[in-house]
Order: sequence, then C-alpha cells, then structure tokens
Amino acid sequence: MRHDPSNSDLRKLIIGVEQKIPLSDGKYVTAINFDNAATTPVLYPVLREINHFAPWYSSVHRGGGYKSKVSSDIYEQGRAVVQSFVNSDKERDVVIFTKNTTEAINILSYVLSQQKTQQKVILSTFMEHAANDLPWRNKFKVDYVEVDRFGRLSIEDLEDKLIRYRGSVKLVSVTGASNVTGYLNPIYKIAALAHKYGAKILVDGAQMVPHTSVDMKSFDSLEHIDYLAFSAHKMYAPFGAGVLIGPKKDFMEGNPFVQGGGAIDLVTHKRVEWDEPAGKDEAGTPNAMGVVALTTAIKTLQSVGMDYIYQIEKSLYDYAISHMKNIPGIKFYSDPYRDDTISVIPFNLEGVYHHLLPTILSDEAGIAVRNGFFCTHPYCERLLGLSEEDINHYFEDEDEMFPGMVRISFGLYNNYKEIDKFISILRIIAENKEYYISKYSKNLSSNQTMKEAGLCNHMFNHGC
Ligand code: PMP
Repeated sequence: MRHDPSNSDLRKLIIGVEQKIPLSDGKYVTAINFDNAATTPVLYPVLREINHFAPWYSSVHRGGGYKSKVSSDIYEQGRAVVQSFVNSDKERDVVIFTKNTTEAINILSYVLSQQKTQQKVILSTFMEHAANDLPWRNKFKVDYVEVDRFGRLSIEDLEDKLIRYRGSVKLVSVTGASNVTGYLNPIYKIAALAHKYGAKILVDGAQMVPHTSVDMKSFDSLEHIDYLAFSAHKMYAPFGAGVLIGPKKDFMEGNPFVQGGGAIDLVTHKRVEWDEPAGKDEAGTPNAMGVVALTTAIKTLQSVGMDYIYQIEKSLYDYAISHMKNIPGIKFYSDPYRDDTISVIPFNLEGVYHHLLPTILSDEAGIAVRNGFFCTHPYCERLLGLSEEDINHYFEDEDEMFPGMVRISFGLYNNYKEIDKFISILRIIAENKEYYISKYSKNLSSNQTMKEAGLCNHMFNHGC
C-alpha cells in the first residue's frame, strides 16, 4: 500500500513550509519548494540546537577558556555522530570536516595525488557532478564509465574498464545518487568490483546520504566504501559544513590541500611538522556551528528513520510521475518507472524554453524548481542527445540559447497537495503555451524576446 505523506507530521520539522511569497499579480501564496536537490530548508531542531549552543560558542581548539573547551568537545564529538550515521570504522577512519562535498573531493584528490604509486587512473563516470570530475582531471588520467540510453550507469563498462586498465586504476569515483536523474547507483556492487581489481572507491554522497541509509561497511568486506563525501546543506543543516571520511593512514602522508594555522604541530621558517589528521586537513578556524547543525540534523533524520524517509520520498516520486506523464508535451530524461531512485525528475515541456518554465511556475504558482545542466554538463549533454559539434557551437556562440532541462526534487516534508498544485499549473501552462511564453518572454526583458535581450548561454546555465 502506498504511504500517504500528505498528513505527515514531518512538515512540522521544517522551518518556512508555510512561508507566503508573492506572485506576479501581487497575490501571496504558500511557497512550494521542489528544489531540494540543490539545497534543503532548515530543520527546527537544528536551529533550536544552534540557539542552545550559541551561549557556549567560542573558538575551537587551543583556547584555554571554559567555553572554548565546551566548543572543542562538541566539535570533536561530532565526528563520532557522523561515523555512526554511516557506519564508518571508528579506529581506522578519520572524519574530516569540510565546507561541502566539493571541498571534500578536492582535498581527497590532492592527498591521493601525492601518494607514490603506479596507479595513475581515476575511473569517474558519465553521470558525475563537476565536483567529482574536475578535481581529478589535472592530477590523474581520468576515464569515464559509460551510461546506457536511459542514463543509467553501465556496470559492464565499469568492469571492462577495470580489466582494460589492468591494475592501474587507483579509484572508482562515483556518485551515490545522480543529481540529474535521481538514479541510485549500486555502490556496494561497484565497491566489490573496484576491490576485485585492486582499486578503491569514493562515493560522492551529496545526493544519497540525505535520502537513504548508507553503510560504509567494515574494512574486511569487499563491499567496503573507502571514501565518502557529503554536504550538510543538502540535509536540512545550513551553516556551511561538509564531510570527508576515509582511512586515517591515507591522510598521514604528504601535504594538506589547505595550509595554515590549525593544521600544524610545529613550524620554523625551514620546517613544517603537520598535525595529525583530521586537524591536518582542517586548517583555519573550525566551523563549530556548522558541525552542531550537521550532527543535529543527523540525529533528527535518524530518529525519523532513513528507510522511512526513502519510502516517503519514493511515494512522492511515484505520485508525481503518475500525473506528469498525462500532461501533453512532457518529456522525461530518465526512466520514470525505475525502483532505485531518489525523488529527482528531469523533464521539459515541449515548446517552452527550459529557462522560462521555472519563472512561470514561480510567478504564477509560487513553485521553486531549477533548470539548466545542474553542474553535470557531460551527463546532461548526453541525455539531451547533443553531439560534440553541437557543444562546440555553444562554446563559440555566446548568444546562442543554451539547451537544458527542468528539474524537480522532493524532500521529506513535501506532500501530495503540493504536487497536485504543480500538476495543475503545469497542465494549464501546457494548454496555454503561447500565452505564457509571450507574457514571460516580455517580462524577462521589456518587450524583447529572450534572444534579443541577450540572455545568452552563460547567463542561465549555472543551476547546480
Ligand atoms: N555532488 C553532487 C551529486 C551534487 O548534487 C552536488 C551539489 N549539487 C555536489 C556534489 C556538490 O555539493 P556542494 O555544492 O555542497 O559542494
């Protein structure tokens, strides 16, 4: 039986779900946020805990005052909360607090690039966010595991490539869930394959960790996840914290990515003795508030239950798909009927430019969605069927209208009623395209079409 999240108490956990916002006609409506894959709103328990902690807030580490000790303890204890959330090894792993997933992967790529090894290949995939592609490029030979015609990762191609590179793959670097299509990758199967051929695995958990349970598994297991990265702001905890987890011994050698105070043991003008990890990789003043927010969010999500969250969001996904598919002109860019998915849906409404639809949805119905390539360009180019020649054309002609998709993504607090409103306005737009295109093209730039107004590719293709 389908779980009905409409009456869920989960909405009460979220700040701002009843926030009124203005439409283009001046009326106010309750905001609907279907852009949770970009960032999530704030949990009440997170803000309560921030307030609770604020009187105790002080500099982390090295301060002699009482509050500094309290702040340092809370910050350090945060590592254990993170470890038990993803079942990382308390003896052998280190939890490094970062700004976000992007910084976490940059740290890892820098650290691994200093290891003396014959393994010089990183196997990334066609579905990676720029955060899990670009940091590898200037340090390793990078190859990309293929996706099939629906954009699903090809496990056959992964194994072929692992065989072809014969022991020189250092790392399989793969997203746990796609921020474009929502597909959940079989990370344990991928881990087992990587290990079989002598490679390690990094899971980019930015989209996976907030929506389903993740288990790094023991070091003895073939399915062990060697490295994991994720961001707090995608799990209802702003304040700028992120996480990188991996074997402590890997971070002992070499120089840290960010260098400065806090990362050092002893320094002269000739010599630097680095601190032990995690301190070594957390130069500068640590983000205590961010860690309080993150650990509170983790505890709250655990008390709701990650499996329950997955189930709720999957119900929302199924409900949205079942209604969207009946709207004339909707084109999906992923297999809508898959099982293993977070609730992300990429689509276009035929005849309505992808950049225009979010504006119409926001101004007519107060619904927030995102469009573009979502910082995942090669994957979107593939899903849209663009050739290299097409892409070169867009590189060169800055005035060209850039292709893209619209994305909706749900969080644990969204409900059927909100989806009904979305479906209803989408249907109205689909049935009155010319009216809305003309109204909003004009709105975008006083009586000019978008192209005349110079809304070129660089201006609206950055939605991540
Ligand atoms: N990986 C994936 C799959 C993402 O969706 C994102 C954010 N859109 C990132 C990495 C980067 O996360 P952040 O911006 O928090 O560093």
